[in-house]
Amino acid sequence: MKLTECWIEHPVRHIDRTFTYYYDGDITPGVRVSVNFAHRNVIGFVESVTETQETLEEAEKRLGISLKPVLSVLDDAPLITPELHDLAMWMRENTLSTAISCFQCMLPGKIKPGGKITQAVLERRVRILDNEVSLTPKQLSCYREIAELGEASYTEMRKKYPSVLAKLIEKGAVEVFSVEKEAVMPAGHEEDEKTLTPQQQKAVDEVRNSDDPVFLIKGVTGSGKTEVYLNLARRALEEGRQVLILVPEIALTPQMIERVSKRFSNALAIYHSGLNPQEKYEQYKLVYSNKARVIVGTRSAVFLPFRNLGLIVMDEEHDTSYKQENQPAYHCRDVAIWRGKYHHCPVVLGSATPSLESYARAVRKVYHLILMDERINMTLPEISVVDIRKAMQEGQSYILSDELAGELKNCLDRRQQAILLLNRRGYHSVIRCRSCQTALKCPHCDIAMSWHRDERLLKCHTCGTVMRVPKACPECGSTAGFTAFGFGTQKLETELQEKFPAAKVLRMDADTTGRKNAHEKILKAFGNGEADILLGTQMIAKGLDYPNVTLVGIINGDEGIARTDFRSCELSFDLLMQASGRSGRSEYPGKVILQVFDPGHYAVQCAAQQDYDTFFVQEMRYRHAGMYPPYTYLIALTVSSDTQDKADKDAYVIRQALNGSYKTIGVLTLLKINDRCRSRVLLKGQDLEEMRRDVRAFLDSPEGSRIKDLRIDVNPLVLD
Ligand code: ADP
Ligand code: ZN
Ligand code: ZN
Repeated sequence: MKLTECWIEHPVRHIDRTFTYYYDGDITPGVRVSVNFAHRNVIGFVESVTETQETLEEAEKRLGISLKPVLSVLDDAPLITPELHDLAMWMRENTLSTAISCFQCMLPGKIKPGGKITQAVLERRVRILDNEVSLTPKQLSCYREIAELGEASYTEMRKKYPSVLAKLIEKGAVEVFSVEKEAVMPAGHEEDEKTLTPQQQKAVDEVRNSDDPVFLIKGVTGSGKTEVYLNLARRALEEGRQVLILVPEIALTPQMIERVSKRFSNALAIYHSGLNPQEKYEQYKLVYSNKARVIVGTRSAVFLPFRNLGLIVMDEEHDTSYKQENQPAYHCRDVAIWRGKYHHCPVVLGSATPSLESYARAVRKVYHLILMDERINMTLPEISVVDIRKAMQEGQSYILSDELAGELKNCLDRRQQAILLLNRRGYHSVIRCRSCQTALKCPHCDIAMSWHRDERLLKCHTCGTVMRVPKACPECGSTAGFTAFGFGTQKLETELQEKFPAAKVLRMDADTTGRKNAHEKILKAFGNGEADILLGTQMIAKGLDYPNVTLVGIINGDEGIARTDFRSCELSFDLLMQASGRSGRSEYPGKVILQVFDPGHYAVQCAAQQDYDTFFVQEMRYRHAGMYPPYTYLIALTVSSDTQDKADKDAYVIRQALNGSYKTIGVLTLLKINDRCRSRVLLKGQDLEEMRRDVRAFLDSPEGSRIKDLRIDVNPLVLD
């Protein structure tokens, strides 16, 4: 007989220990099992197995408990490798989560045992058709090239002939088809590496020749960081090792995927939240079997079962999507560094605007800092700041100032493209009572409802509640009606159409990207030159590289600065810097117009100068004054409950229990979300280990285990 220790799928925190079951057949640590727990059949993860010569009764007697059997073993082979097991145990301590939640977060969703393994990566290619069509000389040369090759990569041809290829497809001269990548891309077909610039070569050499575990490449947009990653990746592959390239969001980084897949088509896997469980499972197996050697993925890809990692790259390392908000609230960067250490491979963090934490570590030489401050083939765009209050006083539009409208006209006259960025959505974001000026709030959340003009509906962007405009004001009872202030992407679109009726406009925001692949479609269309202006919310600021974009307009540029979070300034600065980096990425000079309410603010000033270092110094001063991270560590403990009273009571219990060399802040009543009342206690101190130890001890105590809905966030990114 075998006795096995299992972690049980159970949401209750005080169940964070293993339970013993018996089994007669084959069973190994790391497989999942079905067991009975508290009269329910649940999934368990096998922690350990021991053989015993005892009978069941003898074992029960020795242990002093009655034993239940493992009902069935769900996997042929362990899904959790010994490395992932150790990682889960580390995460459990690091994020103060239950072991089972760590295991669950590592696995690709609901795994179906024994699925078939296929390479899920498809490639789009083009070939000529036999139709009689008349072609312009330009179209003819593209057509001939495809004819000569027999077939060609769609993305490559599109890059070479931006609008011409689209025309050929439209005319029926050329067709697009999809193939499985492995089948068509012989090794020699891959795109040749670029000759590195001296700056790039130096970065590669520094990583190669140093034993330091973590590197931070701080390189302005367009300095050629991606080329450095790809060069390092090739070398790791040549040594027979795997490469993990982490990106913030797949849909927003199509260019990165395209470049990686061109270089390493044969052994590539792409892993992101848009895959269904089966697809994820297939990619998981490909990594496990070492068939996938280069993996590009978002946050959760950091948990794939690599056998032999030679390099981890984390592009745009400052991006907030690397932090998981739910339990276990881990940061992908911490996990990447843990795995780098385990595999003895370098971790390369890259960004034009590193997170304050990372840059502070680099300054203290905890990370190896590599600077890349020359742009490859372009100069910095010219950035101009428009004071929108002044513009309004002069009677200009508060949406499109005269300066922005003028530049837009020039840009369109040159037949080039523009990107307009707005940190909002909906037509008018809030409506207010004409009598008392109170903004209409969501009945379930303490935040303002957004006015969606096209549907004539109000929506809560936090909980999704939808409602009509009420007859009377819930605040003062007046029936004078409501009026809208502020504006969103739709209003911007309307104003654009009025001023530039001939311009083709594409809009990208949370409303137009609800459906799967909607992002890619909009970005592809813009990349193909199907529109003159791309307008959207902050999601268009990341990672885009369009040679024909020569104007970027940022509207309401300092919108975020006024928020009450300690990281607001940093996030706004990042946004302004990233968005500005989109302009003038090829031979044409770029221009950026920043419309702001407070042109004197240092985040605006530094972004306008593209001056990270001054921003860093100023912002660190502010963080030091308020004793915020990176000068301190935070742990947020948030209780949710049906009533505010209950949430507050639990939070007071937490506050009473936790005191040490750190500060215990709160109880703070938070915004209601989804009808759940929330209260928060915040720990702030310099000894993170002590803070963690105290929280863990509290969780294990009788008072602690009584608190049901408690979310713990070690090093929270935002406090809202
Ligand atoms: P970053 O990732 O720092 O924003 P990229 O790697 O995207 O920069 O490089 C910017 C542009 O310069 C890209 O279009 C890229 O193809 C080109 N580029 C990068 N390195 C080289 C090189 N060594 N020679 C020629 N072009 C390069
Ligand atoms: Zn009112
Ligand atoms: Zn709501």
